[in-house]
Formats: sequence, C-alpha cells, structure tokens
Amino acid sequence: MSAPSTRSVVDARGIGRSFGEVEVLHGIDLRLEAGEIVALVGRSGSGKSTLLRVIAGLDDGFTGDLDVHGSRAVSFQEPRLLPWRSVRKNVTLNLKRPDADGLGVRALAEVGLGHRLDAWPLTLSGGEAQRASLARALVREPDLLLLDEPFGALDALTRLEAHALLTSLWREHGFAALLVTHDVEEAVLLADRILVLEDGRIAQDIAVPVARPRERGDARIVELRERILGHLGVGADVPEKETAR
Ligand code: ADP
Ligand code: MG
Repeated sequence: MSAPSTRSVVDARGIGRSFGEVEVLHGIDLRLEAGEIVALVGRSGSGKSTLLRVIAGLDDGFTGDLDVHGSRAVSFQEPRLLPWRSVRKNVTLNLKRPDADGLGVRALAEVGLGHRLDAWPLTLSGGEAQRASLARALVREPDLLLLDEPFGALDALTRLEAHALLTSLWREHGFAALLVTHDVEEAVLLADRILVLEDGRIAQDIAVPVARPRERGDARIVELRERILGHLGVGADVPEKETAR
C-alpha cells in the first residue's frame, strides 16, 4: 500500500555542492513522490552520500533549490547508537513528545526488537543494531526516510531479512525513501525507481516495472540489474567504507 503518488516529498532543482575546488554535484534535479522508494546508485566517490546529506538537511553548503515537504529521518550504514544508553533510550533520543517511550517501544517491536528494549547497544548483533537504527528513524514517523548504505555492513542472510523488514515497514507506514546503495541487486529488488549518479549528475533514471514481491531470479530483475551494472561500468562500485560525517 503506497501513499497517493501525486504529492512530492522532495523537489530539488539545480543542486550543486563543491568542496573547495572540487565540484561533487552539479545541477541535480530530483523529485520524490510521497510513498516512493528511490534507490541512488553510483561508483564510490560519485557523490551519493553528499546528495543524501543535502536532502537530509545535514549539509547546507549546497547551491540550488531544495524543497522538502514533511518530516525526514536518516539511518546510516553504521547504526550510530550511543553505547551508554539502552536501546529504547537510543530510539527516542531527542524525541520531545510525552508519548515518546510508548512510540519507541512500538517501533522496536515492529523491527523485531521488542525483547531487547533495555539491552545495551554493544550487546546487539549487527543486524539487531541496524534494526534499532531503523526503529529510531521510524519513531519520528517520517514522510521521507533517508538511508545511506543501511545494509552494507550486514552479512548476506541478515541483509535479506533487512530487505524484507524494510518492505514490510514501508507497506505499513507508506513513507517515501531515498536508499543509497552500492548493491545494484538491492536497488532492483527494493526500489520503484533507480537513479544512477555519475560525475555529479543523474545519468539515468530507471523505473522498475516489476510488481512486489520481487524474486531475484526473475528474468526482468536480472536484465535490469545487468543494464544498471552496464551503466556503472565493469565491476560497478566496490563496497566502500562509510564516508558520511
Ligand atoms: P559516495 O557516497 O558516492 O561514495 P561521497 O558523496 O561520500 O561519495 O563523496 C563524493 C566526493 O566528495 C568524494 O570525492 C569525497 O572525497 C568528497 N567529499 C565528501 N564529503 C566531503 C567533505 N566534507 N569535505 C571534502 N570532500 C568531501
Ligand atoms: Mg557514501
């Protein structure tokens, strides 16, 4: 169940970002509709995290026009949990609402961590920590979820579980999501649309015309994956270290 598709959550026009002499993003136009999952792929260093941080409101050094309609929440590759706070306290950190704790408990239950509410972050597995990070984003009831390589550090099986979880959370909540990933298969399985970032520009904007749930062996999925890998060049991206700061 996705939200109505005529309302935009992100309207970005002519976004540019330079660091010193280096122009990382040039003239990016990007529109995200409510409830839409858009994957952003590109080689390491192509500017994916830079664009995500601009849209997340974490970087105001950009040029161009950015309109975001609604609330945003971000989750990164490393879960960024504070080790001296319990999982439930991490999830509701800075959430100034009287019902914050109840919302946190509910979000943790939704991501399958209802039994780890009072656990310390360092006792969680990688997959659990990532789910706690998703719960922390979810508890803010975002219209737009910004995910920077959220599953990049997980082992293959845990990553598949995380994909299923993201899909079910999206069905339940109907947020729009911008998913930065170097994993083209992940992009093709999860997204409605895939953007290929190249030389600081959106070089391709490809709709995924396959209904969910999608099978990785589906011929259309395989074909699309090959096509996008072709756009990225041989070997595509290599797994990268998290560079967001
Ligand atoms: P990606 O996420 O696609 O791997 P990034 O957006 O992290 O790429 O980085 C794109 C380019 O911008 C890289 O060359 C990176 O070194 C540079 N860059 C990113 N953030 C900064 C920064 N704060 N200061 C200087 N250079 C940066
Ligand atoms: Mg990055």
